[in-house]
Amino acid sequence: MRQLKELVRKNIWALKPYSSARDEYSGHVAHVFLDANENPYNGPYNRYPDPLQHEVKDALSRIKGVSSDCIFLGNGSDEAIDLVFRCFCEPGIDNVVAIEPTYGMYKVCADINGVEYRPVLLDANYCMSSSAVLSACDKYTKVVWICSPNNPCGNDIDREEIKKVIEGFSGIVVIDEAYSDFSAQKTFRAELDAYPNIVILNTMSKAWGCAAIRLGMAFASKEIIGIFNKVKYPYNVNLMTQQKALEILQANADVCHWVNILLEERHRVIAAFKELPICVKTFPTSANFFLAKVSDAQGIYDYLVDKGIIVRNRTNVQLCDNCLRITIGTRTENNELLGALRTYTANN
Ligand SMILES: *Cc1c(COP(=O)(O)O)cnc(C)c1O
Repeated sequence: MRQLKELVRKNIWALKPYSSARDEYSGHVAHVFLDANENPYNGPYNRYPDPLQHEVKDALSRIKGVSSDCIFLGNGSDEAIDLVFRCFCEPGIDNVVAIEPTYGMYKVCADINGVEYRPVLLDANYCMSSSAVLSACDKYTKVVWICSPNNPCGNDIDREEIKKVIEGFSGIVVIDEAYSDFSAQKTFRAELDAYPNIVILNTMSKAWGCAAIRLGMAFASKEIIGIFNKVKYPYNVNLMTQQKALEILQANADVCHWVNILLEERHRVIAAFKELPICVKTFPTSANFFLAKVSDAQGIYDYLVDKGIIVRNRTNVQLCDNCLRITIGTRTENNELLGALRTYTANN
């Protein structure tokens, strides 16, 4: 790996972060707060929230097996994705490499930040070739983006191939594991000590059932986390989100239960989907959704919308011609989808 100092943008490396009122008395126990121009009435909403979300990180640390100072929390993973660009990529000079197809936010953030985005096409089975990814990198490549399980394809990216990218690239490798709770593949969180150049993304939006509270996380070396912390907005995660997150993290058992039901339903829905005449093929999945090639993606999509059932039409995405991405819902919702598709078949 190149030195972190060479990877981080010069202005960010030199940045002296905003020091909030609550940062400055650290270590002392206080009970009269006349430092932040808050209103003394309307507790607890009158007070600024903990800028570094210590309680949530401690709970996450126990569940994820990563030490608190190696965790960054943001307003969804989207904040972490944007921070990676703002911290590492010099607009107009640096570039990033990503697998294609993948989650759309990496390219949107690259475009917003004026950073060249180099997509590297997966093969027909949505597998990544580490050598193709590495040969797309040059001395201006700061970040490689890998999403596993990948969105919209659903498959795990081969762990050995990911390792070859991490070991063969001297910049930052981001591994977005938003769906890892649904996958049997080993997470890269456990490899933080071995690889100082990785950033792992997780989110409360999928397995944890909390997309509304907007809480995403990054796991990385404490040096990288320190850089994210100095660039982020001081109070980027609000009090209600921190409270709700603590609540759901304590209900860990419910989450495991949900995941197990969704995995069973995934198995059942895919088996039934394969029997439909509209199904050309379904792709292997390790997430809470599956990608299916169908006879007429646009026609089926429109038909389902008309019935009030929304799936994701991915037909215009490279390698996803005539593909629909279907999220696993409750048993009732899944049956409604399958029923509607049987009616479509009967009428078309
Ligand atoms: C859904 C999803 C996320 C989650 O983003 P949030 O901003 O945390 O809701 C991140 N990465 C991928 C690949 C996703 O599909």
